[in-house]
Parts: sequence; C-alpha cells; structure tokens
Amino acid sequence: MSQWKPRTFLAQALGKIDPESRAIVPPIHVSTTYQRDEDNQYRSGNVYGRADNETVREAEAIIAQLEGGAAAMVLGSGMSAAVAVFSTLSPGDHVIAPRVMYWALRNWLATEGVRHGLEVTFVDAADTSAVAAALRPGRTKLVWLETPSNPLWEISDIAAIVIVAHAAGARVAVDSTCATPLLTRPLELGADIVMHAATKYLNGHSDVIAGALVTAKIDDTWASLQRIRASHGMILGPFEAYLLIRGMRTLDLRVRAACASALELVKRLEKHAHVAAVLYPGLPSHPQHALACAQMQGGFGGMLSIRAKGGVEHAIATAARVRLWKRATSLGGVESLIEHRASIEGAGSPCPPDLLRLSVGVEDVDDLYADLDAALNGAG
Ligand SMILES: *Cc1c(COP(=O)(O)O)cnc(C)c1O
Repeated sequence: MSQWKPRTFLAQALGKIDPESRAIVPPIHVSTTYQRDEDNQYRSGNVYGRADNETVREAEAIIAQLEGGAAAMVLGSGMSAAVAVFSTLSPGDHVIAPRVMYWALRNWLATEGVRHGLEVTFVDAADTSAVAAALRPGRTKLVWLETPSNPLWEISDIAAIVIVAHAAGARVAVDSTCATPLLTRPLELGADIVMHAATKYLNGHSDVIAGALVTAKIDDTWASLQRIRASHGMILGPFEAYLLIRGMRTLDLRVRAACASALELVKRLEKHAHVAAVLYPGLPSHPQHALACAQMQGGFGGMLSIRAKGGVEHAIATAARVRLWKRATSLGGVESLIEHRASIEGAGSPCPPDLLRLSVGVEDVDDLYADLDAALNGAG
C-alpha cells in the first residue's frame, strides 16, 4: 500500500486480510509458542512469543510505513522503547539529551543511565550550536532529541543536528511522540531512529501503554535492539498490539482535528486577560515558528501550554475549576487533558510553576474554549 497516503493505508490497517477466514480485521494471535516442522525446522519464522507475534508484526508494519522506515518494533511502553535504545550503548559512551524533554526519561538518564556507565550531557537542543559544542567526536555515540519538547514545545532542527552529529560519529534518535508521523518524519531528515510513546497519539484512546521504534536501516544497532527486546521481555502484548492497530486506523483524523482545535485555542488564549503566555510552535510569537513551519507539515500538533497570569495558585485553581477538560497526566487521546505540569515533574524540573499543559482532543473547540475560559476567569 506504499502508493497510498497515510490516511488511506491507516484506515485499512495496510489492507491486510486474514488468508484463511478472509476476515477484514485479522485475528489476534495469542499463542506464546509455535509448532516445529517435522524435519526440526521453524519455517514459519515463529518460535516463541517473547520475540515472535503476528499481531505485533502487523502493528509494526503500519508504523514502519508511517515513518518511511526500514523496520519498526513495538514494545511494552514508550519508556521501554527509549531504554532499549540507550541499552545498545556501552559503559563510557557519551550521549547528548535535551534540557527540556519527557521528564521520566530525563530522570532515567540522570540516574539509571549514569549508573550503567553512560555519560550524559543535557543541552539546549533548540540551539543547534549548543548540541554541536557538546559533541565529543569519537566518544559521543547518540544524540537524543524530542521535538516539540515537553512541556515547553521547543523545536529542535533535526536535519541540522543530524549533519553535525553524523560528522562527529554520533547517531541521532528522535522522540517524535508529540509530532506524530503525520507532522514530522525524522528519518527523512536524516535521523537514524524514531521513538514513539504509542500510548499517546498512535493509540489515541488512553487505553494502551505501548512504545515503538523505527529504524532508517537494518544494521547492527537494529539487530542489537531486537536482541534486547527479546531478552529483556519488552515486547508488546498481542491484545495491546490489536488495540494499537485499531487506534491507528483513525490516527490521521484525530491528529488533524487536534491540530485544528489547538491552533484555534492558542489564538483565543493569546488574547486572554488571565493568560501570561501561550507556548505553541504554530504561533508566530513562538521563537522557532519558522523552523516549525519548515519541519512540521500539515499542523503543529495538539499539545500546548499556557502560563497563568496569576502564578502557580491561579494555574492550580484553573485546573481545579475545569469541568470538560480532564485533570490528568498523559496526552494524545481523544479526550482533552489539562495538567499542572510542575506538580508531576517535581524538583529540578525546567517547567515553570505557573504552567498548565494542555492535550487537545477531538471534542468541539467552542466547548473546550468555553470551559477553559470560565476556569481561567474563576467562574467554573
Ligand atoms: C508518554 C511519553 C513517553 C513515555 O511513554 P510511556 O508509554 O508512558 O512509557 C516518552 N516520551 C514522550 C514525549 C511522552 O509523552
């Protein structure tokens, strides 16, 4: 289905039909083991469920197609996908990661990653020259990017960073969870690996924890990632893989709706009397709006943050007053979520205390704005 647009091949989950039953929706393969051939071979390619599952492969084929990659793998969570990538490195290897990034992964790098011998430098990844300055040719093995970055929605210039990183012998991996494969395709910009918290937009219904990795080419690192997933038991379960496939059927529709509503909301919020700042790459006031326009196609995502004019108390009170928006962490689901982000990130976070992170779902945008407006005004 490579000639079709994402919206088309997503709707049909690549058009796969079950060869035996002719079912339009293929069955969920739950078997943990597979029969050997009589001559002691495993011609099916399936041996044991910790490495082999057909439902998992169907999800992977869709994600590989979305990112234009050579192959994809799905794992038990976004965190396990990211940790698998760092597990391909050796003690003493140097990695560069953004100062502003998904908080749980930043914590993992600074604690477990360092404990396993990684040397980690956190840089302002919105500044390509800061990444270039942190590179240690021969020692830096990986540059990790997240764009737009949580929860300030800064943009990293993937193509420019790939050039300096590759020149220094480092690979580039991009957490593209918030961009989704519809708005940014990091592999086309030269990145080596793309990571998704499939928990978020790919599944889109807040009912599956899953992660995904996509590689530009089948190489030693990819073989190492496959061994790590199998030996560490990180594969996604078949039911979750099925739900992920079902969720992805509407990915294009959901992401387009979220992008359109987010853009409408930020335009209104920028003029709001009780909002000090609106952080969203689609706004001309965003410091990297031009880069976002060049790097993101068809929208700027469904994630935005606002800073409450009345400070931290006003931010927390606003989150307490919403009725339609749900007060919860996570993002990328069909229901809109609001979160006082500093409360979950804790000490050492670069997140300002007056910041509310908003994940825009697919509800009616006027309803979403009215609820937020009332909560900001204190009339919720
Ligand atoms: C949620 C998230 C993760 C982690 O994914 P899990 O599935 O929760 O483990 C990583 N990166 C980003 C940007 C996320 O939003």
